[in-house]
Amino acid sequence: VQGVRDGGGDPRPRRVLVFPLPFQGHIDPMMHLAGALHARAGLAVTVLHTRFNALDPARHPEFRFVEVPDGVPAGVAATGRIIDVILAMNAAMEASPEAVRGALASAMIAEDEDEEAPHAACLVIDSNLLAVQRAAEKLGLPTMVLRTGSAACLRCFLAYPMLHDKGYLPFQESQLYMPVPELPPLRVRDLFQTKISSHEMVREVIARITETVRNCSGLIINTFEALEPDELQKLRGELDLPLLLAAGPLHKLSSKTTGSSLLDQDYSCIEWLDTQPPGSVLYVSFGSLAAMDSGEFVEVAWGLANSGHPFLWVVRPNLVQDTDIAQLPDGFEDAVKGRGMVIQWAPQQEVLAHRAVGGFWTHCGWNSTLESVGEGVPMICRPNAVDQMMNARYVEEVWGVGFELEGELERGEVEGAVRKLMGGGREGAEMTERAEVLRRKVAECLDGSGSSRTAIDMLVDYMLSL
Ligand code: UDP
Repeated sequence: VQGVRDGGGDPRPRRVLVFPLPFQGHIDPMMHLAGALHARAGLAVTVLHTRFNALDPARHPEFRFVEVPDGVPAGVAATGRIIDVILAMNAAMEASPEAVRGALASAMIAEDEDEEAPHAACLVIDSNLLAVQRAAEKLGLPTMVLRTGSAACLRCFLAYPMLHDKGYLPFQESQLYMPVPELPPLRVRDLFQTKISSHEMVREVIARITETVRNCSGLIINTFEALEPDELQKLRGELDLPLLLAAGPLHKLSSKTTGSSLLDQDYSCIEWLDTQPPGSVLYVSFGSLAAMDSGEFVEVAWGLANSGHPFLWVVRPNLVQDTDIAQLPDGFEDAVKGRGMVIQWAPQQEVLAHRAVGGFWTHCGWNSTLESVGEGVPMICRPNAVDQMMNARYVEEVWGVGFELEGELERGEVEGAVRKLMGGGREGAEMTERAEVLRRKVAECLDGSGSSRTAIDMLVDYMLSL
C-alpha cells in the first residue's frame, strides 16, 4: 500500500471510523489498529467513543473524535463489570437507535468536510457492539470487526451452543479436567468463564459476539498466522466471511504507544529497571480488571519477597477488592529494599521490552500474553476469568513459554513458581529459549513480506474497495 488511496482521483484521504469497547484491553488494540491505518496507509481516522471510560482526544491529535451516547446507567458504570456494561450499553443503544445513528452520520463526514467529501469507507467495531453494527447497517455503512482475543477464543465462542448441547457447559466441578476433543488442547476448565456474571448473561454476550462477527464485511483478529495456524485455518472454514485477517500483534504495527491508557503510567520504573542486571527482573501485573482479596495479596507480597528475585509489581488502585487501600504487609518494604518496586500502573509494553525483564507473572489477558510473546518473555500464568484460562493453556501446552500457577495463592507456592521461572534451572531456561524462538516469529510476521504486514496492506485495499 503506498500512501493515500483516493477514490476517483479525489486528493482527500479516505476516512475510516473505529469504535472500541471502552475497556483497556479492547481500547489498546483498536487504537493500535487505527494508528497503523493512519501512519502506514495514510487513512484519516475518526474514533467513536463513549462517556463511560472516555478517551482523551488531546492525546491523539492525529485523529478526530465523536462521542456516542452510551446510555449505561450510573449504577452499572460504577460496578465497572465488563459483561454488565456490554449488555447495558447494547440495550440502551437498541432502545434509542436514532442517537447512535446520529453520531455515526456525523462521524461519516467530518466537520470540516462538505457534503461532497468522500464518505467514510467503513466502520471498524469491537465485536461486542452489535447495536452499533445494526445502526451502521441502516446507514449503509459497512462494518468490519476487530476481535481483541485469540483465534482459539473465537472458535470457542462459535462452539458455545455445541458445548451446551454436549453437556460441557454449564461447568460441573467433577468435569473440570475433562478434555474437550472438539477444541484441543482445551479442557472444560479452560472454556470461557466468569465468576461474577451469571451463566445466562455470558451466553447472551457470546451469542451477540458471534452474530456481530457473522454479519460483518470482514474480520480482523489480533493474532498472527504462525502463532495460531490451525485455529485460523479452522476459523476460515467455520466462518463464511469475505475477509478474515490475522494482523497482530497490533501493538507492534503502530509506530508509537497509543496514549490510550486509562490510568497514568509510571515511567519511573524504567529508570529503576535500568539499574537491574539483564533478564533478572520478574514483572508482575494482573491487567486492568482481575482482582484478589487481601489475604491473597499478602501471600503474593511474601511470595515475591521470599523468592529473593528482583521484581516490579503493579498494584492498581482496585486490585484488592475487599479494601479501599491495599496495604503492603509490615516488614515487606525492608525485606525487598533495592530489589523490589511496587507501582500503580506501568508502561507495560516498554517494561516487557526492557532488557532487565526476564519473566512476567500475568493473568493472561490476551493483550498481556501477546505483549509478552512479542518480547520473548516467558510467563507464570495466573488466569482469573473470561478467556484467560484458555490463553494460559496455550502458553503452557502449545507454545511451552510458561506454566500455570494453580490452586490457592500461598506464599510458598508463589516463591516456588518464581524460582522455577527465574532461578536458572532447566525448565525455566527452556521456556526462555522457546519464548525467544516465538519472539523471532513475531519479528518475521512484521517484516517486509511478513504475514501481519501483508494483512494490513490487504485490509487497506479491501477497505477502500467497500
Ligand atoms: N497495562 C498497562 N499497564 C499495566 C498493566 C496493563 O498499560 O500496569 C495494559 C497492557 O499493556 C494491556 C492492557 O493493559 O495492553 C491489559 O489488557 P489485557 O488483555 O492483558 O487484560 P485485561 O485488562 O483486559 O484483563
